[in-house]
Amino acid sequence: MMECSCQYNKIFQRIKNLSSKEKKNLLQKMVKLQEEVGELAEAVLIHENASGSEYKSKNEHAIEKEITDILLVSLDMFYSLNPSEGLLEHLLTEKSQKWEHFQSK
Ligand SMILES: [Mg+2]
Repeated sequence: MMECSCQYNKIFQRIKNLSSKEKKNLLQKMVKLQEEVGELAEAVLIHENASGSEYKSKNEHAIEKEITDILLVSLDMFYSLNPSEGLLEHLLTEKSQKWEHFQSK
């Protein structure tokens, strides 16, 4: 469990470091996020064999890769607003507890 946590910390630290060097502003990052959401939509349509998507080729882990892109851009946006240690962890905990609360009803 501890090993897992350390690995996540390293990844989050790397993303925060990359974010601090990113040249896009918040609005540009928002547009980038929308682009990635569009790519996820395409990957899901292909996965679901949706009408009009039959000719497009399936790629392994395409959906997971697009979700990862979304996470990266989202984290970049988050860190550009608030790079302080702990806020992300605090909000993830708070919101997942809220989710947990609604599921238990
Ligand atoms: Mg992408």
